Amino acid sequence: MTEKLYLSDSYLREFTAEVVAVDAGRIILSRTAFYPGGGGQPPDRGLLMVENGPTLNVIGVGKTEYGDVYHEVQGGLLNVGERVKGVIDWDLRYAHMRHHTALHIVSGVAFKLFGAKISGSQIYADRARIDLDIKGFDKSKLKVLEGESNRIVAERRGVSVRFIQRDEALANPSLYRLGDEAHIPAGGTLRIIEIDGFDAQLDGGTHVANTSEVGKIVFAKYENKGAGNKRIEIVLEKGS
Ligand SMILES: [Zn+2]
Repeated sequence: MTEKLYLSDSYLREFTAEVVAVDAGRIILSRTAFYPGGGGQPPDRGLLMVENGPTLNVIGVGKTEYGDVYHEVQGGLLNVGERVKGVIDWDLRYAHMRHHTALHIVSGVAFKLFGAKISGSQIYADRARIDLDIKGFDKSKLKVLEGESNRIVAERRGVSVRFIQRDEALANPSLYRLGDEAHIPAGGTLRIIEIDGFDAQLDGGTHVANTSEVGKIVFAKYENKGAGNKRIEIVLEKGS
């Protein structure tokens, strides 16, 4: 299976790998730093380069049914056994990372203050939204949520990846705020994203290393879409 470099190092922008399969224009590499999408975070874009050969645009990234990462490319052909250098579109990826960590901060505060669960989320390069299942929430509490979220940003807390056993996740319901334990992925080892002294969630995405990188979180839009769905759209002002 593809070695997924992005799972342990979100800041890896370049890597080398071998082409292990080519199927209907989809390239599978021995290892990759390209994020295939998931958990509301879009797939990466970037380049695959062959020494003394073509440079290909990566226009799509996803996961096969076997758990490999595939790369859809334009601009040339690759053969099994070739060595390539992968280059991630870093501006796009870093924007996704900042917005993803921002959503974890907002949902972490919402969980602590209001017991909120997460009913959905979507990340873009210039904004993100989260749907929260919060009892008794109203507009007056938005300011509190926004203010507390920015306090976590200002506290410059470290953000790290940790791998835990499934038993540990089952014993700690706050780790899976997306629903009940049926939502915990199968398999022995699970990945969590931990914001130092504040929040930990099961997660497959890429995150910044410190909350200060997020920048100021601004609540741009609020929609009450029913009892179990309060939709908040955020934008970020530049990080410090
Ligand atoms: Zn997440």
